[in-house]
Amino acid sequence: MLLEIENLQYNINEKPLFSGFNLSIEEQKNHLLVGPSGSGKTTLINLICGLLSPEKGAIRVAGHDIAALSESGRDKIRREHIGIVFQTLRLVSALDLSANLLLAQRLSRGTIDASLITSLLKRLGIAHRAKAKPHQMSQGEAQRAAIARALVTRPRLLIADEPTSALDETNARQVMDLLLECTADYGATLLIATHDDRLTPLFPNRIVLTDHMLKAA
Ligand code: ADP
Ligand code: MG
Repeated sequence: MLLEIENLQYNINEKPLFSGFNLSIEEQKNHLLVGPSGSGKTTLINLICGLLSPEKGAIRVAGHDIAALSESGRDKIRREHIGIVFQTLRLVSALDLSANLLLAQRLSRGTIDASLITSLLKRLGIAHRAKAKPHQMSQGEAQRAAIARALVTRPRLLIADEPTSALDETNARQVMDLLLECTADYGATLLIATHDDRLTPLFPNRIVLTDHMLKAA
């Protein structure tokens, strides 16, 4: 199992947002995490990434229970197994795109894989921008670079929080196509948190958070 959550409890202001929550995601089974605003999608993503720590329960990423680890232990699991597609491009401004990707690999694994970088940039249609600094990229290029940055460490789990919510129809479709295609090409599994109904038909597997949990709180 790629991701397994068991009996999760997480409180906000001492009230449970999650209580007795379970979830499992198999390798290669892309999932959509849906639910109304405030239902806890971003919180759950942050728990899975080890940026928050639960009151109770297990959160196993690739078999490692990150809930039982220290902050540095959680950072290590995140760096090694999870790729996060951020809305805004988080790159070092003084370095060009390919140098940023090399640095990301070195920080994640201590080794570099230049051929993976070449392949990703080509796959994402931004090979000609390898020497561009972050501020020199267009918005569309930056979106593609954010996907490259997330995949450059060969993560098993690729996570994006509301990747399309700010985009028009055409751009939303393009970003989703790239995310789905690249996830398949590079052997990752996609987990997308969204309240964007346009994505529903693209995902047979859905995790639904209800405001049930909010009312219970
Ligand atoms: P979603 O992503 O589904 O919109 P969130 O995970 O952002 O939901 O929020 C879930 C609930 O937790 C909301 O009621 C929100 O107000 C609350 N919440 C989230 N983060 C914090 C925080 N840092 N401090 C207080 N309340 C928070
Ligand atoms: Mg959110």
